[in-house]
Amino acid sequence: MPTIAEMRTDLYRLPLPVPMEASAAGVMTAFDMVAVRITDSEGTSGCGYTVLHEGQGASVAAIADLPFREAVTGEDADRIEWLWRRMYRGHHYAGRGGPVSFALAAVDVALWDLKSNRLGQPLWRLLGGYDPKVKAYAGNIDLNFPVDRLLEGASRSVEQGFRSVKMRLGRPTLAEDIARVQAMREHLADDIEMMADANEAWRVDEAMRAMAMLKPFDLVWLEEPISPDNIAGYAHLRAAGGVPLAAGENLHTLAEFTALIAAGGVDFPEPDLTTCGGITPFMKVARLAEAHGLPVISHGAHDLHVHLLAAAPNAAYLEWHAFGLDRFMAEPLTVTDGFATAPERPGHGIDFDWDKLEAHKGG
Ligand SMILES: [Mg+2]
Repeated sequence: MPTIAEMRTDLYRLPLPVPMEASAAGVMTAFDMVAVRITDSEGTSGCGYTVLHEGQGASVAAIADLPFREAVTGEDADRIEWLWRRMYRGHHYAGRGGPVSFALAAVDVALWDLKSNRLGQPLWRLLGGYDPKVKAYAGNIDLNFPVDRLLEGASRSVEQGFRSVKMRLGRPTLAEDIARVQAMREHLADDIEMMADANEAWRVDEAMRAMAMLKPFDLVWLEEPISPDNIAGYAHLRAAGGVPLAAGENLHTLAEFTALIAAGGVDFPEPDLTTCGGITPFMKVARLAEAHGLPVISHGAHDLHVHLLAAAPNAAYLEWHAFGLDRFMAEPLTVTDGFATAPERPGHGIDFDWDKLEAHKGG
């Protein structure tokens, strides 16, 4: 059995092609990426990464680089569940979420990539293999754009091949938000689906009013209307009905997803492997959703998530926004007629240009 011979961690700060705003995060001009590369005793390697807002990568890189490297080095590379649990349990006191979950994600993805590279199989087949064709939508981040740029961005997404487009909410007044949604609905062809993401902009009462006003626009879902911590609030809003709800990008553990789903707080569970501890817990969330009769959607990192959704029979939508990370990849994912197709290359198939990334080293 191959053992883990080497693990290296690198931190990058990558500028965004254009500054983007979402309600909770504010205006973003760059993001941090923590990349982990693992080589086994037979010389096979795997690569994983997680992405964070600017300035948040250093603590995650530190956790991966020392304690997690020590936890996995010399161990059986195939026992991913055991390695994951070892890292999680070993850091539960300062963890059970937060930076530990992000660091776990980078290592876990590298372990899965290593395993599928060694077996010569694409990740989506190794994870179960359902359907390589996954419905994708444009997760545009555009709260800071005036209406004309907002609509231009949606047009570009449609030209790129999307049939579903998301926009951001959380302007200073609800009236302004609704006017932007109306402008978008009138701008897009009738057969283009719309989603909206409030990124935690509202209190429960404000969200109730917003949902009543959003109802005529037939959104596929309204995302994160309120704080991710307010599970009772989500259950209340969902019971009130009107607009399906999506949430999950800010949940960092399987237990948090269990609580939200068990409370009846979500129509579209939306895990992000880069924030919830990697592929290992993401697939558990996907199965948890399936067991509750719910679909699963992903958040960000579409080049990785396409494999996970292609392995899940309840997959609904792949979110497409990678902060421009595509420009550092040899063969980034593409979308055609609203669908992305998981590649048949071994592993996750992402081939980073490490020389090009080198110019952005440090965070
Ligand atoms: Mg979101």
